[in-house]
Amino acid sequence: MSSPPLLAPTYTAEYRTAAKTALETALSSAPAYSTWRHHDPGASADIFERYRAMPVLAKANLREHQPADFVPEGRDLAAALARDEVELVQTSGSTSDAVTNVWCQEWWDASEASSWKLHAATASARLGDHREAILSSPRCVGFASDVGALNMEQRTLWHYLFLTEKADPAEWSEPFCDRMIEELGRFEPAVLEANPSYLSVLCRHAIKHDRQVYQPAVVTLTYENPSLIHLRHIRSIFHCPVISSYGATESGYVFMQCEAGRLHQNVEQCHVDFQPLAPRHGGPMIGRILVSTFANPWRALVRFDMGDLVRLAAAPCPCGRHEGLTLDAIEGRVANATLSRAGRLVTQSEADSAIARVDGLAAYELVQPGPATVSVRYVSDRREPAAIEPELRLSLQGCYGASVTIIPEHVQALSPVLGVKYRLARAEFKIDIHDFLAGSP
Ligand SMILES: [Zn+2]
Repeated sequence: MSSPPLLAPTYTAEYRTAAKTALETALSSAPAYSTWRHHDPGASADIFERYRAMPVLAKANLREHQPADFVPEGRDLAAALARDEVELVQTSGSTSDAVTNVWCQEWWDASEASSWKLHAATASARLGDHREAILSSPRCVGFASDVGALNMEQRTLWHYLFLTEKADPAEWSEPFCDRMIEELGRFEPAVLEANPSYLSVLCRHAIKHDRQVYQPAVVTLTYENPSLIHLRHIRSIFHCPVISSYGATESGYVFMQCEAGRLHQNVEQCHVDFQPLAPRHGGPMIGRILVSTFANPWRALVRFDMGDLVRLAAAPCPCGRHEGLTLDAIEGRVANATLSRAGRLVTQSEADSAIARVDGLAAYELVQPGPATVSVRYVSDRREPAAIEPELRLSLQGCYGASVTIIPEHVQALSPVLGVKYRLARAEFKIDIHDFLAGSP
């Protein structure tokens, strides 16, 4: 079977200049990159060649250095912190230890605003100081309270309303879900930004009780890669565009879904290197991405490993956008990948497709303790386990191999890891991405 031809991305002269300035500034002035300089083939080489010659920046490298080591051009971080121009924030990634980031609101807002140009609905909605409701873990953003309720005013900041103070959707009662629906109607947000697994729980409630839900101009999904099951729940309640937005605290906004459903690179803000997996693991169309930012005055980020796998688009997007990389899909975290019995990498997206083919599952969590076993805890409010489980076994054996033992377990509800994010799939043994990249032994 031959692979589809690769679609060569196009880049403007302006983009090349921004990429060149960002790389040269980082190498010449940010102390963290001083040991990288000897990798640079020099100013006469093609700029993308120069990027490819550089090492990869891992989360561990961000932890090894002080935040000041990434500040370019001799800016004084301590003085900016004292003036409250920037602040230090900790990210608590669900798969690795915390990283300290310099938070620059201005840069973040600019990165978000550039991403809005990548979908017709956000481009035309005149966003900026719009009302925005947010449904995600209050341990990440917003206001948390696991004991008493917080009223709407206590959960409002600037033009944002944070819909929940309870981090675990398994604890959302029916009146609590009704409160969120009622507040959406009162607040009338232009944008509802949501963690898809959280929004899926609210939508299941609305479906079950036949509730009318206020329709914002758009729903944007962020914080985690949505399951097809989440999308099914969300799309049955929200009839506006439902848009996946992809980025991270370290990188800002990197990809945004267009009206044709593909994801386009936020070319005003970042460069993205793509490293394909070996053909037997899904390459050359599936690979990992390394992000370099152009405009963060407080952190030069070069070839940062986002820890995610993506699938390139094989054909130009019908929306007409052609600059930078175009993706068919985010395949999911490397940390959420598993292995088939034959040792082939199974992305979160592939496992999700196999599970979503089984009718009646409302939520799930797949864990692979060893190469020969896959356990799936699942929630179902429509079909009996006796109907679901044979179908689930068959579908997952199609993905992992007929000799793999599939162990389903019906549960009442699932909770997010550390009250922050759900993890749809994971292996309990180490998967090192370097063993799966093209060119690896
Ligand atoms: Zn498009």
